[in-house]
Amino acid sequence: MPQTGLTRFIFSNPNSVSDDKPIFIDAESGNVISFGQLRNLSLRLNAGLRRHGFKKGDTLCIYSSNTIDYGVIVHGTIAAGGVVTTANAAYTADELLFQLQESNSKYLVTNDENLDKALEAATKAGLSHKCVFLFGNRTIKGVRPYTQVILANEEAEAEEYTFEEAKSTTAYLCFSSGTTGRSKGVMSSHLNIAANCVQIAQAMKPHMDYHTARFIGFLPFYHIYGLSVMLHLAPYWGIPVVVMPRFDLVKFCEAIQKYKVTIAHVVPPVLVLLAKEPIVDNYDLSSATHFQCGAAPLSAELSTAVNTRLNTKCVQSYGMTESSPGSHIQPLDDDEHGVIGKMLPGMRAKIVDDNGNEVGLGQRGELWMAGPNIMQGYLNMPEATAATIDSEGYLHTGDVAVLDERGTFAIVDRVKELIKYKGFQVAPAELEALLLTCEKVADCAVIGVYDEQQATELPRAYIKVTEGTPRNEATIKELIRFVDSNVANHKKLRGGVRFLDVVPKSAAGKILRKELRVIANAEAQPK
Ligand code: AMP
Repeated sequence: MPQTGLTRFIFSNPNSVSDDKPIFIDAESGNVISFGQLRNLSLRLNAGLRRHGFKKGDTLCIYSSNTIDYGVIVHGTIAAGGVVTTANAAYTADELLFQLQESNSKYLVTNDENLDKALEAATKAGLSHKCVFLFGNRTIKGVRPYTQVILANEEAEAEEYTFEEAKSTTAYLCFSSGTTGRSKGVMSSHLNIAANCVQIAQAMKPHMDYHTARFIGFLPFYHIYGLSVMLHLAPYWGIPVVVMPRFDLVKFCEAIQKYKVTIAHVVPPVLVLLAKEPIVDNYDLSSATHFQCGAAPLSAELSTAVNTRLNTKCVQSYGMTESSPGSHIQPLDDDEHGVIGKMLPGMRAKIVDDNGNEVGLGQRGELWMAGPNIMQGYLNMPEATAATIDSEGYLHTGDVAVLDERGTFAIVDRVKELIKYKGFQVAPAELEALLLTCEKVADCAVIGVYDEQQATELPRAYIKVTEGTPRNEATIKELIRFVDSNVANHKKLRGGVRFLDVVPKSAAGKILRKELRVIANAEAQPK
């Protein structure tokens, strides 16, 4: 296990890459940040932040789509002894405000596109606009670029930690709803993140040549999947990442062809496009020997379709924000479909029935797992933490898994509330709370319904209307408009609205989502 703080670990350079090796390459402009520049800029930002008054333990929030200097802000803040919280770039001002307040952020770095929403949220949170900075090099509305203000001319030594301190000091607060309720700040320690880099590196080493490997980074850096793989594993291992601000099929194909990307980290809806869209034939994607798919289930049909069309290999990985994030990776030379592979080294797991008793090989049960990459807990929420991590250190994933005799796991269902739209989390509790503020809604429940065509779940609301409200198309449209105008794009009610006489609930008042899933499945059956 790593014996140091995260900054020293990331720049420890185990593969002895040269300082001028590109680590972040802008897909559009070709601009580069090399390994040496990343270290230098991060340590200069560390110096600048301290001079600006940033204190050890302070939290800085990043609210931006991917840029090549996202990693500078991340590693500069960590080097200064800070905590980084990453906000979804599509958040509304109020969604950002929630995260700023929950995380008690003292600084905010954003991009031009998000500036208005960032300033609105900062004002409401009582954050001085002097502590808001921009990526890029322009001053807009009085907000200056970080390069002019908090980037010093000299480097400062990164904050250092003993092993015990690295274990107990939070580096990141990514937000996840976990198995129930609203979004919560997941405390990932220096050790959690460093351990996961080592675990993934060990699992992939036999199958990957880091001299020639190239990743493509369109997965959002604000989600732990992108944050960990692109901003930690890549520099630690010395692998270049071709950075895209967001997914766009044509630009994605162009970038793979132009920069000879070898491994693309994707989510299932991207593979649907690669399997089906005619335009893909216009590009030479032969450098991409592997598509590593995570964040949501990947069917055997879909991976086979992509493998055949592109003469490549799709493999799966599995993890959670709460496991920093990787826990299972399918080896790159594994040909099996519909499985997530073996558990990463240093972890232990069990699959249990409803009473917490271990089930046998081949039997379904909830996956519980433990190891050095399991989060410290949820910020300021000891009860939610205790409900998720038990006294033996097992994280209760809320996912249903099966284990075979080779030690290979498959995820076969999900028992927690969480909905995932194209890999992004949607917390039903949040949409339900929002819907209940609407005077036409007496009661409601939100679940995910699966859309085969797009290979993703879609959030659907089941509504009991207030007396006098018509159960018609106009009400449906109004409710959808109401939700859509108050949430980020991925949370929209794409699965529609259905009316119910009564929302099924247990005696304790808990929504019986299983019953709603039965209703949804019945509706989906051809008549
Ligand atoms: P997040 O914390 O946003 O990364 O979401 C974690 C959840 O995504 C897991 O608990 C699973 O429900 C789901 N997930 C991630 N990877 C996979 C996978 N390969 N197969 C099925 N579900 C997955």
